[in-house]
Amino acid sequence: MGLFQRKECVLCGGKVGLLIRYKLVNGDYICGDCREKMPNYTKGIEDFTVDEVKDLISLKEENDRRFENEFVTSRRFDFDNKHPMMAVDDEHGEFAILKDKKPDIFKFDEILNFYVDLHTKLLSTEETKKTSAFMDVVKYMTSKDFGSRYPDLPRCGLGYKITGMYFQINLGKNPYHAEEIRLDMLPNWSNSTDQLEKAYRCANDMYQCIKEYKG
Ligand SMILES: [Zn+2]
Repeated sequence: MGLFQRKECVLCGGKVGLLIRYKLVNGDYICGDCREKMPNYTKGIEDFTVDEVKDLISLKEENDRRFENEFVTSRRFDFDNKHPMMAVDDEHGEFAILKDKKPDIFKFDEILNFYVDLHTKLLSTEETKKTSAFMDVVKYMTSKDFGSRYPDLPRCGLGYKITGMYFQINLGKNPYHAEEIRLDMLPNWSNSTDQLEKAYRCANDMYQCIKEYKG
């Protein structure tokens, strides 16, 4: 078999691209379109057989039907109206990640642990010399007032700036073989108090909600 021979998707028979293709355990491939029919957060596709992939696609179809018809949004956490993050169904003890076109539904019971991963960077000498809006944001983020509102979330230390914020949810056993959900809490990143407030507010609402369930 030639190294560059085009392969076919074992599910739909379509040609698989060289860049977007997923190898299964027995050497078969599935294409990007068929991968999209699987749950969003499934990990370890290379360990699955064709039949297991087919089962996951059926589960995803049932998930999407339930999300349309049965999932009752009792609480919703958004960064802003253009960036929805999480919907919670308190009746069923479930949640869904809204940034995905077709959200997977998870149970709060399936969460192993969760935290906010804050990325910070030491300010450069040039940055500390700035007397601009930039340093006002840095001062605001390290102020007591700001920290006291979000005691459970990590804070930026004095002399540092925030370069990214991620909400990490690690999952235990679940039918979708998902291991983790990592949400970018600064989808429109800019160094402004407005964006950082939105990120902290939304992350804190999600954090407090999961904390209620996990105790
Ligand atoms: Zn395919």
